[in-house]
Amino acid sequence: MHEFPTGLSYDEALAIVDEVAAAHRLDTESLALPRCHGRVLAQDVDAPLALPPFDNSAMDGYAFRHADLAGQGDGLRLAGVQFAGAALALALDAGQCLRITTGAALPAGADTVAIKENVRLDGERVRIPADTVPGANVRYAGEDVRVGDRVLHAGQALTPARVSLAASLGLPSLRVARRPTVAVFTTGDELVEPGLPLGPGQIHDSNRDLLMGLLRADGLEPTAWPRLPDDPRQVEIALRDAACAFDLILTCGAVSAGEKDHVPAVLAQFGRTHFWKVRMKPGMPLLFGSLDQARFLGLPGNPVSVMATYLTFGRALIDGLQGRSEPRPRWRARLADAVDKTHPRREFIRARLSAGEDGSLYADPNPATGSHRLRAAADSNALIVIGEGPQRLAAGAVVEVLPY
Ligand code: AMP
Ligand code: MG
Repeated sequence: MHEFPTGLSYDEALAIVDEVAAAHRLDTESLALPRCHGRVLAQDVDAPLALPPFDNSAMDGYAFRHADLAGQGDGLRLAGVQFAGAALALALDAGQCLRITTGAALPAGADTVAIKENVRLDGERVRIPADTVPGANVRYAGEDVRVGDRVLHAGQALTPARVSLAASLGLPSLRVARRPTVAVFTTGDELVEPGLPLGPGQIHDSNRDLLMGLLRADGLEPTAWPRLPDDPRQVEIALRDAACAFDLILTCGAVSAGEKDHVPAVLAQFGRTHFWKVRMKPGMPLLFGSLDQARFLGLPGNPVSVMATYLTFGRALIDGLQGRSEPRPRWRARLADAVDKTHPRREFIRARLSAGEDGSLYADPNPATGSHRLRAAADSNALIVIGEGPQRLAAGAVVEVLPY
């Protein structure tokens, strides 16, 4: 266990998360395509077909042989119609054209398509604009994908476009990583469910919805457990119970040094602590370990700590467990306002992103400090990441941002 008074560096902690996740990779399953969205692919995909599978028309128009254009006189003779999906296998003779729809196979003998709106019709005659270039409006077999091309890779996240690519290749299912089952716990004697009145000293449990929402936005189907009181025995029983049934346990609160913060001791006694405390602000008391068959991430209780630790370590753990090797997109923005950081920890600052007229993305830091201030988080849509060490950054400086 790594527990230093000052905590691990962010990078050291992240390396431990990656290492533990890799050692506990979830198994894979074959899923029907419609269920693959958002999953991590666990196989490479080599194209069994070419795309497009055959030469076809990119437009509704008239297919013809470009060599006939010079001698078209009062037009090419309309010899028939080729619709998309119809296996007519029509062929063109010299001086002829065929009406064709978008996606229809190019008839034998044709090499060019003139757009419907650009031709002049005169009975059986079709006048093609003389400046139509050879091969215009033709989509060639294999121009997108050739047979055998490796088009998808294990470790990639399945975006709608990738699932759609698999569909166009005719694949009915894909092998993907099993999605981790996640148990979510909030802790604290002061917490009351929304809908119930507050007694003295009580607040509503807001982190549950925060965490459930963050997890769902990442494609997971988390299970919220009843809130845990600050009682060591009840914390122990509930967490050990969940640990036999879930891949991942996420708790929030009760991981700092307070007398009622029982979670680290329970983890140390009944499981394994991989690290406790990371030099970040907010989120410093982050706790990571293993309990029974589950990985365990204890997030600090303040709402903004939950966001900062989830978007960094929570996501890294979830991605690692599923074998995602494709890095998440990284975003940079220019500070809309100066930031002066005097402490040595990595800091996460709420900010609002907007597109500047100059083409830059701007991050406007929210002046609210205090990781309990949820309204500032609600008014924002990203966290600015300020690296370790004191940093005086002027407006316009480029910083990493985590949109949420
Ligand atoms: P703790 O780490 O348990 O001391 O919690 C730190 C701060 O976050 C305290 O002010 C708690 O009241 C608050 N907090 C903890 N859990 C929640 C929650 N689920 N919803 C809202 N606030 C919370
Ligand atoms: Mg607490």
